[in-house]
Amino acid sequence: MMPGVEPEHVEAVVARVEAVGGQAFVSRGVSRVIIGLIGDVETFATLDLAGMPGVAQVTRVSTEYKLVSREHRPERSVVRVRGVPIGPDTVTLIAGPCAVETPEQTLAAAQMAQAAGATMLRGGAFKPRTSPYAFQGLGEAGLRILADVRELTGLPIVTEVVSAHEVEMVAEYADMLQIGTRNMQNFALLQAIGETNVPVLLKRGMNATIQEWLMAAEYVAQRGNLEIVLCERGIRTFETATRNTLDVSAVPVVQQLSHLPVIIDPSHSGGRRELVLPLSRAGIVAGADGVIIDVHPQPETALCDGAQALVAKDLGVLAQSVTDLTAYMGRTPAKRRYRSAG
Ligand code: PEP
Ligand code: MN
Repeated sequence: MMPGVEPEHVEAVVARVEAVGGQAFVSRGVSRVIIGLIGDVETFATLDLAGMPGVAQVTRVSTEYKLVSREHRPERSVVRVRGVPIGPDTVTLIAGPCAVETPEQTLAAAQMAQAAGATMLRGGAFKPRTSPYAFQGLGEAGLRILADVRELTGLPIVTEVVSAHEVEMVAEYADMLQIGTRNMQNFALLQAIGETNVPVLLKRGMNATIQEWLMAAEYVAQRGNLEIVLCERGIRTFETATRNTLDVSAVPVVQQLSHLPVIIDPSHSGGRRELVLPLSRAGIVAGADGVIIDVHPQPETALCDGAQALVAKDLGVLAQSVTDLTAYMGRTPAKRRYRSAG
């Protein structure tokens, strides 16, 4: 739409599209309004949308993913999680335990994260484990622990949800809903999360192409939730020296194709503590909008992924490096900003 378009002209376009059974998604950017249309292109061609008041241009988006594409929204997006930005001007440090185990362990990990300058807390209460005999997470009791720790530290929480019927319940506690690598193509889950207005952290499937990953994001966006952050967490390759191979090239590639922010998870990709620092550096210099790190007060006792968890000392070194490289990239560390009321 044209700069400074009148709201009624936007509404008129939406109404005309909906009248022929199409869907119209209105995205309001800082400088302009873009309306994404979904439906039959031939029918839309009969509507003379280009001739309507306020319309600047009608473009057919040729990529299969539309709402998450840069063709749809040229400027890169900022997703805010309780006032913490994730986007192109900042680098967001997220840290916390792989799994919520006890209130003490979660609080200790959160305090480590906060002392190092992290502005968001991660932690799983529902753990999708390869073995059914492995620790599966504390479930809702774990979410209550996370909420208590948020109360004490002020850190917004990102936590995984593994099934569509639990989305509503997890969303009552979480500030950001994580979709794990194994669920990237759980379409019912993607759609259920798309129905909420809670920000989403969508991890890349370990066997997924970038195209498939963006299509998964499109599932969420299509249901109305565009508050999506992508997370590159390593893919399966022939290499066995690491758990998975962090695909650093995914960061700039995704940023060319999509307006969505993209962060990296060096903990789950490398699978080993000593790889977390070099992979974090690589990701930030490649342009990642943030990093998400496993930390644990006593990794040797961790119920999940202890081998990749950083202790306080390592986290301090990592945080310093993140700060230095954030400046090198011309960005600022992401700090929580409260929006003024009203
Ligand atoms: C996690 O972040 O705790 C996790 C299980 O990650 P992934 O889905 O990437 O394996
Ligand atoms: Mn883990």
